[in-house]
Amino acid sequence: MEERLCNEGQYYVNINKVRDPDSIYVLVDKFNQLDEEYVPYDLEMIHEEFNPMRLLLRREARIAFEEMCCVAKQQGILLEAVSAFRSYSYQSTVYMKNWTEGIPLEEYRRQRDQVSARPGHSEHQTGLAVDINDLEETFADTPAGRWLACNAHYFGFILRYPKGKEAITGYSYEPWHFRYVGRYLAEKIYRSGMTYDEYYYAVLNC
Ligand SMILES: [Zn+2]
Repeated sequence: MEERLCNEGQYYVNINKVRDPDSIYVLVDKFNQLDEEYVPYDLEMIHEEFNPMRLLLRREARIAFEEMCCVAKQQGILLEAVSAFRSYSYQSTVYMKNWTEGIPLEEYRRQRDQVSARPGHSEHQTGLAVDINDLEETFADTPAGRWLACNAHYFGFILRYPKGKEAITGYSYEPWHFRYVGRYLAEKIYRSGMTYDEYYYAVLNC
């Protein structure tokens, strides 16, 4: 565990292939990669009211997300998905979109790794991750951002890339990116103050 979490800024090294891609507890990060062919078997479209872009989540996450959006709405908070399931090939396109011939790939990757996951390493390929409303750090200080930070765990979602944990998660603070792990685990992780990476290696992966 410590070895993996004390990576000294080295990512995409000693990469494991994910063996349990259909588990709702699956860990996908800069060390654990999904297969190129992996597509979740139970993707469903999120209800249109919370989904202007016709995005997909796995069934269990889709139901929980809609429930969360409904409860938030009753409290005057509007939530909608702006990114959810992303395929390996889509992530490939996103990752490579700024590359032009002549830029050495290593140099491109060094820059691009700061802001985009390499294909197979995006949690969005699990169908269990959803970006909500606004992909800006200022989202944290909006009513919706604050509401999610306090309430998402009641619906089974955790804030996946918290502030101050960048060295562990390998990602900048993303107050909009939530990962479904089910209510039981979401509450435990929320109370632990750990990131999912830390919790996974400390508790789940014994
Ligand atoms: Zn995201």
